[in-house]
Amino acid sequence: MRRKFLAGNLKMNGCSSSICELVDAITTRSKNFHDCDVVILPPYLYLNEVSLLLEKSHLSLGSQNICQFNNGSYTGEISAEMISELGCDYVLIGHSERRNFFLETNNHILEKVKRALENNLTPILCVGETMEERAAGQTENIIMDQISSTHDYIGISQQEKIIIAYEPIWAIGSGKAASENDVQDVLSSIRRNLETIGDSVTLIYGGSVNPENAQAIFEQADVDGGLIGGASLDEKKFVELARLLQEV
Ligand code: PEP
Repeated sequence: MRRKFLAGNLKMNGCSSSICELVDAITTRSKNFHDCDVVILPPYLYLNEVSLLLEKSHLSLGSQNICQFNNGSYTGEISAEMISELGCDYVLIGHSERRNFFLETNNHILEKVKRALENNLTPILCVGETMEERAAGQTENIIMDQISSTHDYIGISQQEKIIIAYEPIWAIGSGKAASENDVQDVLSSIRRNLETIGDSVTLIYGGSVNPENAQAIFEQADVDGGLIGGASLDEKKFVELARLLQEV
């Protein structure tokens, strides 16, 4: 049985005090929402502080990235083992900002998924197409290509441990989410392509979700929740999204 799932990707925003205030407010205001899993993804630097704040709450902690290698001589990197030790249960992998600005390929992403699973972290694998790819009718191929490298390597049994976030690149941070029909079409095609395990994989949507457009998206049959960027920086908006998700 799939659980509803909402993650707030704080990206490289805030400072120690503003992030602690935000997380504290989200924790307090959402304490009665038990029907969905809510995860906060702060910058690495604040994982420890946020972990302490979340200790007695029902919210979970995740990191926005990990290194594709195990501990060793990789200056400036952070390993899956390290974030796991800090109390993370989840890790975002393959966000389009990592693919675009840091040139991460499907191969890097596959290695990161492996490190995550080896360290009992649930990967939130981000996939999505550009506007040009969509216009050329390539959405399904692009997305299945992004998923299949992990799917083929990891095998069916582990695939269920991955959350897949469909994030069209043109919708992220644009203020204009994909329409609920487009979201449903893509998520149902992912489920269809995953065949026997399709029904048990958690599929979420991300890209300019806000309290105005969320209900129509969350109501779609194949949408299990959302990955939230901008709106997660505002506790009222983020808590409202959790409430909407839990009530659909
Ligand atoms: C994201 O970057 O994962 C995201 C969904 O951002 P936004 O909600 O701001 O579009």
